[in-house]
Formats: sequence, C-alpha cells, structure tokens
Amino acid sequence: MYRKDIGILYLVIDSLRYDYGGLLYSHSGLSRYRFLSLTSYTTATYSAPAHTSLLTGLPPCLHSVYRKSLEPSIDDFYVSEKTHKHMLQIILSKYGYITHLYSANPYISPGLGYKGFSIYVDLLPSKHRRSFISYRERKVMDLIYSRYRSSILRFFMYLRVLGFDFMVRLLMDKYFAPLFWGNRDWPRDKGGDRFRELVIDIIRKRKEVLLRSFIFVNLMEVHEPYLFDDDLRYYQDLVDRLVKTGGSSWERYIEAVVDPLRQAYRSQVVRVASILREILYELYDAGILDDMLVIITSDHGQLLGEYGMLGHINVACDEMLRVPLFLKLPDNMEGNDIYRKINNDSECLVSHLKIPRLIKSVAIDNKPINICDDIVFSELYGRSYKDNGRTVHQLTKKPIVFAYGLGYKVLYDMNSNRFIEFNKVNDSENEYKAEQIVRRVKKYVALCRGLDRLRGISSKTVSRSKYSV
Ligand SMILES: [Zn+2]
Repeated sequence: MYRKDIGILYLVIDSLRYDYGGLLYSHSGLSRYRFLSLTSYTTATYSAPAHTSLLTGLPPCLHSVYRKSLEPSIDDFYVSEKTHKHMLQIILSKYGYITHLYSANPYISPGLGYKGFSIYVDLLPSKHRRSFISYRERKVMDLIYSRYRSSILRFFMYLRVLGFDFMVRLLMDKYFAPLFWGNRDWPRDKGGDRFRELVIDIIRKRKEVLLRSFIFVNLMEVHEPYLFDDDLRYYQDLVDRLVKTGGSSWERYIEAVVDPLRQAYRSQVVRVASILREILYELYDAGILDDMLVIITSDHGQLLGEYGMLGHINVACDEMLRVPLFLKLPDNMEGNDIYRKINNDSECLVSHLKIPRLIKSVAIDNKPINICDDIVFSELYGRSYKDNGRTVHQLTKKPIVFAYGLGYKVLYDMNSNRFIEFNKVNDSENEYKAEQIVRRVKKYVALCRGLDRLRGISSKTVSRSKYSV
C-alpha cells in the first residue's frame, strides 16, 4: 500500500499547566494553522514516568518508571529493555522514519533508556557543560549528597573521598566557570533558543528530511528555576512561613508572596510561544506544515502556591494533572470523519496514553483515530500535604489512581484497596455513572495488579487491554 510521507513534530513543554495553555495558544499563533485545543490529562506528576507514557502509551504501573523512594535513585527512572519495543522511536524507525530526540531534560536522554533515536541533541545549556570537575567526580558528589543531609558532613566527605585538589576545582567551578562558559541568559534560556536554531537550519537546508522524520522534543523553559537557581525552595520557605503564621487567612496573602514567581512563569510561557511561532512560520513558509502531524503538550503541571505548595509533586489536582494539548493533523486528513468527531466533541477528554496510538496510526496507516475518552486516569506514587505549615511528602509503594470523567473525580488507593475520594463534579450525574466509574477504576487497578504478578510487560496483555479501561 502506498504510504504518504509525513513529518511528525511531538513537542513536550515541561511543566506547562492547563490554565496557561491559552496564553501559549494566542502568543504562538496556533489558531492561524488550525490547531485543535483539547483537554488532556497526564499519567504522572513527574517528567520520567510521564514521558515514558507519552512515548509508549503505557501507564506508569506497567512501564514502572517512577520514583520509588524519597531519595530517588537514577535506576528508578531507567526505561527497561522490556519497555523499549513499545517506544515510538523504535517502532517508527522500522517504517523508515528518521527519529530525532531534542531534549533539555537530563532524565529524557539515551543514557536513561530513551534509546534508538537516529539523532540526539542535549539542549540544556548548563553551567556545567564545560567544567573543572569530571563526570566521575560529579557522580561521586551526587552519591555523597544523597547520603548525607548536613552540609558540614558533605564538605568533609567530599574532602575525604575526592581530595583537596578536587575542593579547589569545585570552588573554581562555582565562581570562575560561569564567567568563561556561563550561559548569560540562564535560567530563562534552557535550550529553547538552540532548538529553534537547529530546527530552522534543517527547514532551510534539508526540508525534505523533515517529511520522513519523527521529532520528539522536550523544552524546559517553563520548568523551574525561573529567577535564580533553587528559587522554588526559596519561595517554598516563604510560603511555609506564611501558612504557619498567617493562620486561616494565609490564602489571602499568597498572591503577594509568590507574585514574582508567577510573573516569571508567565513570561517563560510567552518565551516558548515565541520560539514556537517562529518554527511554525518557517514550516508553513517552506510549504511542509500541510504534511505534518504536530502535537504540543506538557508532561505535567506545576503548583505556583496553590494549596500552599510549589513545584510538581504528588497532589491530585488540575494544576498538576491537567495539561494543554494542541493538535494539527496533516491537511489531507482534516476532512476525515474522525477528525470532525474530535473537533465537535465538547466533552472530549484525551489521556496521554492515546497520543502514541494516534501517532502510529497517522504515521503508518495515514489515518487518524478517535482519541477522545470518557474517563482519563493518572497515577500518584504518594501524597503531599500541609502539616503545621510545613509541606510533607509521603511516598506510597503502590499508586494512588486518579480518575476523572462521567461527572466524577475519584481517587483509589491501591495500598489500602479503597476509594479515598469520590467527588461529583456536576449535579446532573446519576447513580449509573457512579457505578460505571467504579467499574472502570477497578478494571484499571486489575490491569496494574495483573502485570504486577507477571513482573514485567507482556505485549499480549498490553495490546488486549488497549489501555482504554
Ligand atoms: Zn517534567
């Protein structure tokens, strides 16, 4: 069968939450190119599990890339061999696609199991890009850092294990390296500018390559830090103090405390939008946007002071789990019934698990699939809450499953095997729908549990379930 060559641009804007999607949409001119704007939910609140789902269509409980302890080990986030065969880059390269990975997130790299891309570019312009400290020394430092909590103990351990000479180089790295090799625009530029240059260069010089390419991108501009290194921890301290001293009225003052952070977040969204606008215009101008599938989404949201918390942590709320999703199909597929169905379905909920299936279908069979669901699922591997002004992070061994749809928002704890929250989102829903959501959540849990027993992913079970539990 004749297969038309198409280009696929799959862009993840790390930590972009749903309520800033409109800002991105308007500033990047997405409406000019007829992008659909959809309601989407991520599978997890951290980069690594969410990205693995975005590339495989597997929920975290099946691909098992998630944080397993409070001091996460790098192994927690390694994509296993068993999961590789489900990854889009592996599948699409068999169909002749050139696969590109442009990533500013160190977790989303071949070193952590995102293997099989024809091209990989590490976008993050770190101060440590060139350094007085070797890679091996940095690994030892990480190990000491994770073992010892006190900075005095850490100092002595560095000195003992790595020596005096290392301590001198560490100081030079901190104070001199940024002068020579520093990125002057850090932390505002986290590699997005470089990505724009790279892509525009390809469009201008070798645009024919793009129509046989699958390009997966992670941009970190909207991820912390925003104003200076470790700003989230600084602001969390301020917020904690406010919660502790402000009593029940702390929420009235939160805006004032976190305002600089929210402003910076907003301007980062605008920054990414302008990068996007330029790239889309170049693609349009080169006449290849018509033949491209473009998907723009985020891996998880970000808390900016809501509930007295900051960052992406285990909280089951829309700021954390709901993310923007913008979609443009190749022009010849826009007349398709399924496209119209998606476009006209005002209730359409899209799980991230559906995106890899859509990409495969468009790239291989040249036809879209319906990606709308009536229920979407996410997994949290812990809970974060306020205790006497302090933010407490509690991890759980098994996931807490979040489900949204049919007029309900529920949380099922797989550790205690019970629903811990069961909320009606609107009043019009009936008993039948409540029963339905209970049934679907139990099916999801059974899927996670079944594979738990098999200790790994059996492709048979995975394809049978079709993830639409
Ligand atoms: Zn992330």
